[in-house]
Formats: sequence, structure tokens, C-alpha cells
Amino acid sequence: MQEIRCIFKSFRRIQAKNNSPLAGAYRKRRLSKPSLAKDISLCCIGFLPFNISYKHEMKPFESVWTLRVMDQLEFDQRFMSQALGLAQAASAAGEVPVAALLVDPQSQKIIASAANTPIASHDPTAHAEICALSLAGQNIGNYRLNGLWLYVTLEPCAMCAGAIAHARIERLIFGASDPKGGAVISGTQFFEQPSCHWRPQVTGGIMAGESANLLKSFFRQRRS
Ligand SMILES: [Zn+2]
Repeated sequence: MQEIRCIFKSFRRIQAKNNSPLAGAYRKRRLSKPSLAKDISLCCIGFLPFNISYKHEMKPFESVWTLRVMDQLEFDQRFMSQALGLAQAASAAGEVPVAALLVDPQSQKIIASAANTPIASHDPTAHAEICALSLAGQNIGNYRLNGLWLYVTLEPCAMCAGAIAHARIERLIFGASDPKGGAVISGTQFFEQPSCHWRPQVTGGIMAGESANLLKSFFRQRRS
């Protein structure tokens, strides 16, 4: 048990160093003298189903597995998966299947979510990112969305990249790249331009295959 406590203490130091959401959660809850049970349950928030009843029989190997579960990639996949669900619903409604979520990484709560609705709303600006940003601003009562992470299933276009910069989004996570209409790693690469005054951290390719397949399937159906 002592060995396991040491592993978790080391992990907390690594997380704090990385300034991860989990480190924020630890700081927020001020777990300066954490119990192992609390540590494990905190690790489980929002992740894969996880049995905490084995705390008295946990082996070092299993604690390594726990660290893997808490990996950033899985954190991103969790929210991207939810965005893909929204995109699927948009597809069923006849909209191009793209959806976005705004997440507070500290609390791991979704602040706003939206899918593409330009056709239904007769609004050419009603891209998923714009709708989610607008809704988040209303929800938190501020036009600056500092500290929030934006998950979107497709690489944002130039309009949405501009809105992301205006909103001061901390981190942008997108699924499939969009060589034709994207403006983050494709086309104008908006965040690299001198006229852009805010550059979020960018992670691309999260569940990119699922997103691309959804789009391909949508356009294939429209053509047939
Ligand atoms: Zn857009």
C-alpha cells in the first residue's frame, strides 16, 4: 500500500508540473493530504468505468493502468466522442455534420454545445463553433472565454478561427482536417498570421477517422 501511495504522489507531482486539468482539480480540492480512496475516485471522474472497490488489493501494475486511463488523449476522446454524437444528429437533420463543445478543463463540465445549423436557421454564420462560442458567452456572462477548451469535429474555417481568437479560447481540439475549407493547419493558417493576436494551443486529429467517415457518408447520401 505504501508503494502505491508513492506512485500516486509521484503522479500528482507530474500532473502539477504539466498543469493538467487533473492537477487543477487537485489544487481546487486542496488535497494536500489526500487519501488513496479520494485519489482513485478523483481519477475516475468522467473516464472509463472504473472499479474503486479494489483499493485494498491494487497492484502496481494496475496503478500504471490507472495512469494510462488518465491520459490526455482519453480526456480529449471523451469529449470528441460527445461532439461526434451531436454531429450525427445534425446529419440526420440535413445539416453538414459538424459539432462543437466548449469545456471547462478544471471542472470537466461542458459549458456549451452546438451543431451546424446554417440551413435551419437561415444563417450563413451558424457554424458549430460560432454557435457554441455564442452560447458559452451567454452562459457565463462574458464575451471572453478564457481557460475554456473548444472541441470541434472538423478543422475550423477562417471565420470560426477568427471567432476562436476573439474569444481567447485556451485550447482548440479538432477531429478531421479540412484541406479545402480549414484555416488552422490548412489554407490561410489563421493563427499563424500577424493579424491574429491570440493563438490557442491546437491539437488536431482526435477521432479524425470517425469525423471524416461521418462527413463522407453525409455527402455520399446527398449525391445519391
Ligand atoms: Zn466555420
